[in-house]
Amino acid sequence: MVNGNGKPLKSRMSGFHKLSPDEKLEAVKEFSNLTDEDVELLKKTGALDIGAADRMIENVIGTTEMPLGIATNFLINGRDYLIPMVIEEPSVVAAASYAAKLARTRGGFTASSDDPLMIGQIQLVGVADIEESKKRIMRNKERIFDMANKCDSVLVKFGGGVRDIEIREMETKRGKMLVVHLVVDVRDAMGANAVNTMAERVAPFLEELTGGKVRLRIITNLADRRLARVQAVWDKDVIGEDTVEKILDAYELAANDQYRCTTHNKGIMNGIDAVVIATANDFRAIEAGAHSYAARNGKYEPLTRYAKDSEGNLVGTIELPLALGLVGGATRTHPIAKIAVKIIGAKSTKELAEVVASVGLAQNFAALRALATEGIQTGHMRLHSRNIAVLAGASGDLIDEVAKRMNGEKNISTGRAKEILEELQK
Ligand code: NAD
Repeated sequence: MVNGNGKPLKSRMSGFHKLSPDEKLEAVKEFSNLTDEDVELLKKTGALDIGAADRMIENVIGTTEMPLGIATNFLINGRDYLIPMVIEEPSVVAAASYAAKLARTRGGFTASSDDPLMIGQIQLVGVADIEESKKRIMRNKERIFDMANKCDSVLVKFGGGVRDIEIREMETKRGKMLVVHLVVDVRDAMGANAVNTMAERVAPFLEELTGGKVRLRIITNLADRRLARVQAVWDKDVIGEDTVEKILDAYELAANDQYRCTTHNKGIMNGIDAVVIATANDFRAIEAGAHSYAARNGKYEPLTRYAKDSEGNLVGTIELPLALGLVGGATRTHPIAKIAVKIIGAKSTKELAEVVASVGLAQNFAALRALATEGIQTGHMRLHSRNIAVLAGASGDLIDEVAKRMNGEKNISTGRAKEILEELQK
């Protein structure tokens, strides 16, 4: 590979990590033939300044921005919420707000959640006497608790700490293994660092007790002791009896077909991820946990359920693991995330999980309603038309003008946008 000056370039950049962000940017500019304008844009870092970004991850050259929208109309456990959502896809915020509005007639969302329990896994191989080892671990439960809790006095001060130990045994291609689960109450943290530290701390003692060798010591993202559950009722007179039937048919497809179910759950995650990202929580952890939980019965299933109540109204429910933090991670260091948390006003991670799960249910209801009735493209493309106009080359006032004309003609495509743009530019 050569750069603009014909110089050969390699991605093997020794010492790259030691350069300042500006110097790194210069090196990338040269490698990738960036223009001066590209570099200027990358230097505009917004609320998350370059120093903070550079402390957050490695090899930083800039930051990136995404739209932050506010979902309105949410009434959860009798309290009104405004919910910040960070997402690049049009119509998600509007859909969530719309579903929340329709749910208000019947009291909005009723949510509950488990205590913030996370599981740390410690894998032991080469254990000679499995039964005796299990007994020994259980006999030393209190010592293990103590050892783990000593790693995190702050967590313990806030009422968290180890709650239980479970031992699992599995037959594998590489022999029998013991897996010790440390069940930890992580209070207002997501908990990965806290739990991983505890798992590493107690591992040598478990080797001592079992005579085995420890391999992995890591949290599981299948946070199935930390579930959030939400229910909402959509009144048949508000959404229409016919729509209730159509949504139930649509739901049944997801319940019986993995192709549909994947997209059904993707729609739920549109809402969930957007709030998780707004609060700078670990969306990969949430995604992994959600899909794993969806497959817990050995079959990939919808994270929501729908049924009719005795009056014929549509009852929607959702249940999924939500390992979210209000302290730790980037939630307290990302300036916009801090404001997002303030906008939600959640006082605990349980409350945050209940809000996030409500958005997931709302998002799913809105998608099912649109899909089962007029189809999602009408609304989606209307909202997407401005992006199409930009893709076709429109800028400034022309973006809205091109979008408006395409919407009026109900013909939203890049081809049509280009034609309109040419006409307008004449
Ligand atoms: P953390 O270590 O940054 O903060 C948690 C700590 O904050 C606690 O251990 C405690 O000492 C302190 N604390 C102060 N007030 C508290 C309160 N009220 N409640 C609870 N703790 C309080 O963060 P974390 O939550 O342990 O870990 C989250 C981070 O770990 C995320 O950035 C995530 O991306 C990352 N991570 C995830 C995985 C995974 O999901 N598999 C693995 C490794 C790391």
